[in-house]
Amino acid sequence: MATSNKQWLLVSRPKGPVEESNFRLVEKEVPALQDGEVLVQVRYLSLDPYMRGRMDEAKSYAAPQKLDEVMIGGTVGEVVESKNPAWAKGDLAVGMGGWQQYFVSDGKGLTKVPRGLPESVFLGAVGMPGVTAWYGLNEICKAKAGETVVVSAASGAVGSVVGQLAKQRGCRAVGVAGGPAKCEHVVKDLGFDACADYKAEDFKERFKAAVPDGVDCVFENVGGPVFDAALARMNPFGRVALCGIVSAFGGQDISIKHVRSLLTNRVLLQGFIVTDHMELWPQAMKELGGLVAAGKLKFRESVAQGLESAPRAFIGLLKGENLGKQLVKVAS
Ligand code: NDP
Repeated sequence: MATSNKQWLLVSRPKGPVEESNFRLVEKEVPALQDGEVLVQVRYLSLDPYMRGRMDEAKSYAAPQKLDEVMIGGTVGEVVESKNPAWAKGDLAVGMGGWQQYFVSDGKGLTKVPRGLPESVFLGAVGMPGVTAWYGLNEICKAKAGETVVVSAASGAVGSVVGQLAKQRGCRAVGVAGGPAKCEHVVKDLGFDACADYKAEDFKERFKAAVPDGVDCVFENVGGPVFDAALARMNPFGRVALCGIVSAFGGQDISIKHVRSLLTNRVLLQGFIVTDHMELWPQAMKELGGLVAAGKLKFRESVAQGLESAPRAFIGLLKGENLGKQLVKVAS
């Protein structure tokens, strides 16, 4: 029975880029279970760009992460003790366990992981990022066969699923990613039709060549010049699923120039937060899980080893050091 629990607390808010000193590692006792509770040992912690937003105090769609408390985070873990009849020792559970080795839950907010797929995939392609891709593409872009779908941060957890789902709908899938290795992965491994490297000096020309028939749907993850390049080439009645603005976290200017294109092309732009649509998650996860099981949805993971590595891996994620879903392996 575990007695000690390592946790990462947020101890200061970043002024500019996130620093390791914004976090502190502490060790606490694992509390005794009350009736109705379970103790979960975290196996994988998910690192996600939204965590950067929570580190600020600015008003947003969710409350800021409180200082001196365990950092928020999605987890998949094993029930190691249960006083809740709905959960048995050995069950695997997805939940918001946070940046720590163990957590106690009353079972609300935990979802059982079905056997058959690797458990980590429920934090990536069949978890929140996959559902985000599914929602934006199906409910906002409503991409149709023959249309061109552009997705930025294309090699990442969300973007990689967007492009593959778009291909399955018979669309032309065009990614934007940072560097030749990521672009090669997007095209050769994930099956996108093209990928433009936004770090290349001639990015605008490369992007233009990648979308010979213009752009019908933009699944935007980044913001700023990458977003603007897509807006400049919109087709009439195009749609934009505004999912994220990760470049803003590095202090980049995210203002856009091509507002005129939104008007003249009668573009529909919809921002969304995937957790507003929990009623669609079961359907999305069923479809995504089926595709992964059938080998029709590929995914990559960057796995940092040990809870201690979480801040470093998180800083790396915001700099694009990950390929695919960024995870931390907390326990085997
Ligand atoms: P990723 O796995 O895509 O990792 C983030 C990636 O962002 C990096 O790998 C990097 O890729 C790219 N990036 C970072 N900085 C910049 C920059 N300055 N310019 C261009 N690209 C940059 O993360 P996720 O797939 O988890 O998330 C993708 C986006 O989706 C984020 O914006 C996130 O906030 C958003 N999101 C939104 C949700 C919603 O409900 N609206 C839910 C989940 C995610 P590269 O090396 O290619 O630059």
